[in-house]
Amino acid sequence: MTERELKLVIEPAEYLRLASALPDYAGERWMANHYFDTSDRALRTRGAMLRIRETERGRTAGLKQAIVVLGGSFEAAEREEPIQDADWRRVARAGGDLGILDHSVIREAFALAGAAVLRYLGSVRVLRKAYRIATDSVLELDLACYEDGTQDCELELETERPECVRPFVEELLERRGVSVREQTRTKYQRFLDRPESEPLELCESLAGEVVTVGDGVLVQRTPLGGPRVVATRAFAPGDAILELEGSPVEGDLPPRRGTHFLQVGATRFLDLRRTIGRHVGHSCAPNAGIRGERTLVAMQGILPEQEVRRDYAMTEYDLDRVCCCGTAACRGRIGGYRVLSSNLRAAYGPWVADHLRGSAAPEPEAP
Ligand SMILES: [Zn+2]
Repeated sequence: MTERELKLVIEPAEYLRLASALPDYAGERWMANHYFDTSDRALRTRGAMLRIRETERGRTAGLKQAIVVLGGSFEAAEREEPIQDADWRRVARAGGDLGILDHSVIREAFALAGAAVLRYLGSVRVLRKAYRIATDSVLELDLACYEDGTQDCELELETERPECVRPFVEELLERRGVSVREQTRTKYQRFLDRPESEPLELCESLAGEVVTVGDGVLVQRTPLGGPRVVATRAFAPGDAILELEGSPVEGDLPPRRGTHFLQVGATRFLDLRRTIGRHVGHSCAPNAGIRGERTLVAMQGILPEQEVRRDYAMTEYDLDRVCCCGTAACRGRIGGYRVLSSNLRAAYGPWVADHLRGSAAPEPEAP
């Protein structure tokens, strides 16, 4: 069947405002898109895309062809069929080899690619919020989280007539003071355009799979929540959990950088990729802090099997991220120490990096 969608780009800074201002909120869900192609991108060369989409309800294989993008309007011929859990586990055990499945959509992708192997390229996790703006129209607000820790936002509306609906949607947004641009690339293209990506093995995307075991902690991969660091023994307040290590990077990194950078000085960073420390998640109600510049320390008692999370504002001076930590204390946006309130600065006390001590008073967060 042919799918037509209107897609508009939202600035991450406007995402939160829009998420709460749009009418008729109808719920949200996490999805993970796992992408496959040959190593020389045979499907992409033919204007096609094979995606396994994972949600809490299960997985589907989707093949899009004849993708046409024009003025924020996306059109593609799409076929989508479910994949059984047992089949997906077989694929993961086979190192991501889709060729072992007898599945009509996947067979079609192989035929189209003219290849014997379709390789797993990586995944994008998407938080999708839905708004039922009319009886038969659902506006979707997507926050896409890439493997390099960067994010972007877009609005989608499935419609037979994107060009007719667009003025209506734009007016809806303008009334809320949000300006939009037309999207020019699919999520898959945006995924491919990220040279910093660090693809994880497909087997790591299975729920609860243990990826790396360290001393007192391990990295667990959850399909919809991404990797997380979990304690394997108890830590008392003040106990060192982990030395954060990485290769030094010097310079002014933009606030919208990936989360694999750890700030250790005004213009000094560590690139944490390929270390356990890279997977320590953010929380607005953290149980771990920083001693010195890069020692991860328990702020409170941490029990085995509890996730270890720090507040990125404990090390990063200027950051611009939408937060999905899900805690009651969530600030909605991680702006870095620069905008961290005096109350939180006082509450974190000794648990912030040395280079942030003596920083200027908190600046008001941009509206
Ligand atoms: Zn939060």
